Amino acid sequence: MHFADVILPLPLDGLFTYSIPTTLEEQVKFGVRVRVPFGRNKYHVGLVARTHDEEPQGYEVKDISLVLDTQPILLPEQYRLWSWIADYYMSPIGEVYKAALPSGLKAEDGYHPKTETFIRLTPPYRNEQALHIALDMLVRAPKQLKAFNEFLFLSEEGRSSLTKDELMNASHASADTISQLVRRGLLETYEVEVGRLNHGSEPHPENIKKLSAAQQEAYNQVLFSMLKKPVTLLHGVTSSGKTEIYIHLIQREIEQHHQVLYLLPEIALTVQMMDRLRRVFGSRLGIYHSKYSDAERVEIWQKQLSPCPYDVILGARSAVLLPFQRLGLIIVDEEHETSYKQQDPMPRYHARSVAIMLASLASSKPKVLLGTATPSMETYHNAQTGKYGLVELKARHQDIELPEIQVVDIQDLARRKMMNGPFSPLLLARVREALENGEQAILFQNRRGYAPMLECKQCGWVPRCQNCDVSLTYHRAMNQLTCHYCGATYAVPAECPACGSKNLWAKGYGTEKIETEIQDIFPEARIGRMDLDTTRSRNAYERLISDFATGRTNLLIGTQMISKGLDFDKVSVVGILNADTMLNQPDFRAYEHAFMMMAQVSGRAGRKGRRGLVILQTRQPQLPVIQQVVHNNYEGLYHDLLDERLAFRYPPFFRLVCVYLKHRNDQLVETAAQEMSARLRYWFTNRVLGPDKPTVARVKTLSIRKLVLKIEPQLNLADVRRCLLQAQQQMLQDKRYTSLQIYYDVDPL
Ligand code: ADP
Ligand code: ZN
Ligand code: ZN
Repeated sequence: MHFADVILPLPLDGLFTYSIPTTLEEQVKFGVRVRVPFGRNKYHVGLVARTHDEEPQGYEVKDISLVLDTQPILLPEQYRLWSWIADYYMSPIGEVYKAALPSGLKAEDGYHPKTETFIRLTPPYRNEQALHIALDMLVRAPKQLKAFNEFLFLSEEGRSSLTKDELMNASHASADTISQLVRRGLLETYEVEVGRLNHGSEPHPENIKKLSAAQQEAYNQVLFSMLKKPVTLLHGVTSSGKTEIYIHLIQREIEQHHQVLYLLPEIALTVQMMDRLRRVFGSRLGIYHSKYSDAERVEIWQKQLSPCPYDVILGARSAVLLPFQRLGLIIVDEEHETSYKQQDPMPRYHARSVAIMLASLASSKPKVLLGTATPSMETYHNAQTGKYGLVELKARHQDIELPEIQVVDIQDLARRKMMNGPFSPLLLARVREALENGEQAILFQNRRGYAPMLECKQCGWVPRCQNCDVSLTYHRAMNQLTCHYCGATYAVPAECPACGSKNLWAKGYGTEKIETEIQDIFPEARIGRMDLDTTRSRNAYERLISDFATGRTNLLIGTQMISKGLDFDKVSVVGILNADTMLNQPDFRAYEHAFMMMAQVSGRAGRKGRRGLVILQTRQPQLPVIQQVVHNNYEGLYHDLLDERLAFRYPPFFRLVCVYLKHRNDQLVETAAQEMSARLRYWFTNRVLGPDKPTVARVKTLSIRKLVLKIEPQLNLADVRRCLLQAQQQMLQDKRYTSLQIYYDVDPL
């Protein structure tokens, strides 16, 4: 083999061919990292995808300059999965490589093994006689003598190795004192590589809970379904014990010497689930998500390749891209969650789809289990048509009733001047009752910050982002205006720049304002607030949860972050402050998503013992979807939406591909979008919609246009992709469009 095709971490299509110098012939093989020259004086760390003897024509091939690994860090199955992702989501494979590999593996010197400093006697002093001399030598240096004696004492106690830190702690010596002993030639230090991974405790399978009769039945059904179908949906109401069933299934796989991948949509959730799984699986469990340090992720990656990988990996989206050697089961919990889809940057993949593809590519032939109380339309449709197996669990564990949901018409109350800010009298009464009874309440508002905008009362002026086409969110605690699209922050103006009025008011409600106003009403309430702003650090989320779980706080306010999977005992009331912001989204999935959100938030009410209460505030109580939430009528929602989806050619009947065009110049991007649209219509005729301006038509100074392609399932997606890429290439040949960005979102959410 004289040539290697290499994946480079670049947003360019395809692989790059390099020649293999004779000296490296032995070392260059599939899956190892190599350093290669690129452009002028530039080097990249790439991954070898293929070696061959086909000399590339038409350009001068450069040599691989260095091989970084002796063993492959990528498995052949992973590479096939990467290629599928690149193809299906129309993203360069270099972008998949960037998304999959922890940064420490992408840079040559990015990863440093963690080491610890140990301490021992130097060779001349490793005998009795020399030690006596040493002790004499130290008589005038009492601190050193004390430290040295302590060292000898600990060594005699049978300690075969001692770290510098341990010695310092035991002898109360300073680092300086130890260094002096080293300089005297009595002691020497040496470095030992230690893992960063917390290895946890022994597994305790005896902690697995016995399944109830209904759960056992569902468990058996899942096993039978998995005999026939590659994918099974476990549709169980909140708190029915789906997680307990997963735990039994995982244990079964472990006993068969298989690995399990357990995906959760958000990092926040993995924290809770981690404790639950650790109690049973101990050190067999590895955790993988982006809040872990890069070095830790490198170690997990390497452990997955080692002879003793983790039996169970619990992780968020990107864990689906880890190496697995003998995968038996993939669990996609809360499969309906939109955060399974990566939005930005590329590849815009859906972890559920990738998991299903991973299962079909893996030689160990793992099964996929999707779990949720509110399935996505796509998944439920697949289950209804028999493509997926379906197992249902209709009762909550111990038959605790689902919460009672009371709808409150806030438009009517507002007209009668009965609203107290965003709170209806009923909501306030129930929250007061809960707090007085020593119970807890949750308030849900799907907007963070203090207020979605500031507005001049005089002339209606609203501060907007300079880079994006949106109004700025007012954050009062930080006293600034923030753009939630580009992150830019601005000072709060003292007066309106348009008319000079000082009368600026914060319009609408974010979680921060809800917190302030409810605290005014209930000064004694102990409030926790959970949103993106309060959970930026790795531990903040855990603290908010544990404060609420232990009762240190009794009123929790939050965005959709609080909607899932959290298991609290004393929540008697959940308030959904404004359902309309969710229902009125200009998006064909608005009702589907609103239903899910409300059903999940409601699920937080009334666990253990008593029936909970949900107060659902809306201006549109007559909407069928509201009644469907009230009666937990998922089937009803599904059938309503299904008719609509068919009529208007949406998923699950049609596949969507969004084409985005971006450029600084709004005029130019409009022209380009028109042209792209015309080109696509040549093949796809009326399947092309747009171009349109998206809701936010300018982000980070780039103007955006969007085309939507609605494709019937019979059409071969590979052909569709080819047409799209051809149109794109033709466009980009035009000199006007050299800096035009075109990208795709396949199966957008
Ligand atoms: P889901 O995942 O469907 O929301 P969980 O598995 O979290 O439901 O169960 C809800 C609560 O009921 C949890 O606290 C869980 O420990 C408890 N539970 C469920 N099934 C059992 C069981 N068979 N034995 C004991 N406790 C159970
Ligand atoms: Zn004004
Ligand atoms: Zn912005």
